[in-house]
Amino acid sequence: MLCLTLEGGTMEIAGYEVEVVELGTVALDGGAMFGVVPRTLWQKQLEPDALNRVHLALRVLLLRGHGRCVLVDTGVGASWSDRDRGIYGIEAGQTVAHRALAGLGVAPDDVTDVLLTHLHFDHAGGAVVRAEDGALAPAFPAARYHVQAANLAWARAPTERDRASYRPDDFEPLARAGCLVEHEGPGELFEGVRVRVSNGHTTGLQIPVVSDGATTLIYPADLVPTRAHVPTAWGMAYDLRPLEVMEEKKALLEEAAQGGWIVVYEHDPDVAATRIAVEGGRLRAADAVDVSRSSPRSRP
Ligand SMILES: [Zn+2]
Repeated sequence: MLCLTLEGGTMEIAGYEVEVVELGTVALDGGAMFGVVPRTLWQKQLEPDALNRVHLALRVLLLRGHGRCVLVDTGVGASWSDRDRGIYGIEAGQTVAHRALAGLGVAPDDVTDVLLTHLHFDHAGGAVVRAEDGALAPAFPAARYHVQAANLAWARAPTERDRASYRPDDFEPLARAGCLVEHEGPGELFEGVRVRVSNGHTTGLQIPVVSDGATTLIYPADLVPTRAHVPTAWGMAYDLRPLEVMEEKKALLEEAAQGGWIVVYEHDPDVAATRIAVEGGRLRAADAVDVSRSSPRSRP
């Protein structure tokens, strides 16, 4: 799993040092991760445990440049009951963002911006920490947190089907602290970083695209959570609008294939990033791309 680490290697795109940071793992039901795809097929891609769960990475992105330190997504965080830790396979010693970033020389106050792709708990769970007085507070006190307005609105009034995925304690403390910035639709968030917006997985999922023309990297979050989800029909049961996922994913990945873009997978347990190949008209993940995998440090 650590074979992709380049010694001291950091990718540079659009004036940013780009690093992928590992924040531990989460275990989710394999059937739910693959929707209508039968286990006989998906188990060849991701091996389930005795409880039929697949163990997934919580892989976030750190961009340093242009006077900014941008964290993209925050993992599951540390605010979990023992019951939920058991259900989701979250270990008590979970590497949370503060510790992982400390390994890169980044203190919580150094983070200027947190881009939340969407507010599902495995993406926004680390956005907030419990202070010593017991109050919930932004985990990165100096940061502005960026979210799509449509996703925040949805998170505040989810359906019965998806309400287990949205925990108000992951985002309401940010709103109360006045550090939540709501964006309307696609556009440029920072120099060299724009977002696309996708509505198939949930309403208002934003996908950062880091590009300087020569090199482009995308972080599609739950639109393409692992390499196994690259084929158009391999969606998740969690997706609110499966047909939209198929359309959006196909359009994004065809563009990625054409442009030779690097795709970072937030949840793939084995490979952080690949380019996309088209074979016989079908999309597939190409060979792993070397990206620095910095935390926890694999070597001193
Ligand atoms: Zn999600």
